[in-house]
Amino acid sequence: MLTRLTDRIEGVALRASPAGSARLFGALPPRALAALQAARFRRTLALVAERSTFYREAFRAHGIRVDRIRHPSQLGDFYTTGEDLRTHGPDAFLVGRPETAFETTGTTSPVPKRVLFSNRELNAMGTASAAALYLMGLRREDVVLSAFDCSFWVSPAVARSALQYIGCFHVEAGKIDPADCYAHEINYKPTVIFGEPSWMVRFAQIAGERGTWPVKLLLAGGENIAETARREVERVWRAPMLLNYGQTEAFGSLGLECLERQGYHRNDLHFLFEIHAPGEDGYGELVYTTLTRDVMPLIRYRASDVTRLIEEPCACGLFARRLAKVRARADEMVVCGMGNVGPWVFDEILRGADGADSEWQAVLTNDGRYDVVELRVEVRGSRPEVRDEILANVRERFPDFWKNLQMGLYELRVTPVAPGALRTGRKLRRIVDQRTL
Ligand SMILES: [Zn+2]
Repeated sequence: MLTRLTDRIEGVALRASPAGSARLFGALPPRALAALQAARFRRTLALVAERSTFYREAFRAHGIRVDRIRHPSQLGDFYTTGEDLRTHGPDAFLVGRPETAFETTGTTSPVPKRVLFSNRELNAMGTASAAALYLMGLRREDVVLSAFDCSFWVSPAVARSALQYIGCFHVEAGKIDPADCYAHEINYKPTVIFGEPSWMVRFAQIAGERGTWPVKLLLAGGENIAETARREVERVWRAPMLLNYGQTEAFGSLGLECLERQGYHRNDLHFLFEIHAPGEDGYGELVYTTLTRDVMPLIRYRASDVTRLIEEPCACGLFARRLAKVRARADEMVVCGMGNVGPWVFDEILRGADGADSEWQAVLTNDGRYDVVELRVEVRGSRPEVRDEILANVRERFPDFWKNLQMGLYELRVTPVAPGALRTGRKLRRIVDQRTL
């Protein structure tokens, strides 16, 4: 009864204006939300157990009887991983007819993860995002410019869908050189700007030199940002810069910051969140289950990001509970100004560089503005030219990382060290993230 009621409230909310739906969701009592999540979880679980070959076989192998499961935490040590998506391919996860696909770039392996969706799912994410953007202050009178990268990335599609519900004017620049983008933007004078954090930092630097105009809000997504860098962007534009936390696998937004900037308000209508193996401070790997997907639902998907769930209310008064700012990656992949990079990227960059040994370590820092990637490489003998060879490999093998370097979104330093200098313990940590976020 309660579930049917909350389902109906949501149905009305999603058809209402962004202002109306934000209000309606805000009025949903916690008990109703929990009932809605539970019903949606059981529906999703029954769907995958019946139609997805991956889940059918995995549940059998784990001895899971889905009719007895009421909450993801009852699934014991069963999880879905990014590796499962890569090894089995999207077809094994399908329960409905797909109409579009997005891919993750880079990550821990050169094989992208492909995730398929329907247009209905895209519209549902669009209406939910429209309500969230409304709460952040976006209105019909606004002019939005998006510099989100359009190739295979889900964010521009979700943003486009959301903006259509808000009804504001918007232009899509794609991820182009911030200096070029500035020359175009000056004609539109957008009041709201979307882009990746490292792109935003460079763009703010250019605007600081050439002149700004009144901006209401900057919305960044796709990677984390150091607070010092965020403050610098906000100082230039005299406007708040808020972060969206999402993943392609989640179809965009898992959570969105409010003006308090104390974690992301989570999207509890579409996901059930858990923390895998939390430490004493509550931090552990984020795990989520999709609740409203009918093409490629995911059960207990390991996000590879380390965070914690915040149940206390936020000072902003918004109903949605929060996820803390992501502290680190659970695997060795890092998301930075260079892009999404894992150990395989550096193996590939060093392949064939004459004199470079197999031992290397990448250390990430932030100079207050930009991410600095220092690649320490063990080199036999004196070979200063190894640096040029490595840079040539980046240019040739990773055009996206090279483009970001040319755009000044990060700094890449190559530091040759003597053989044996890096491995001091049994295991060499390949990527060391020392950025203070
Ligand atoms: Zn808040």
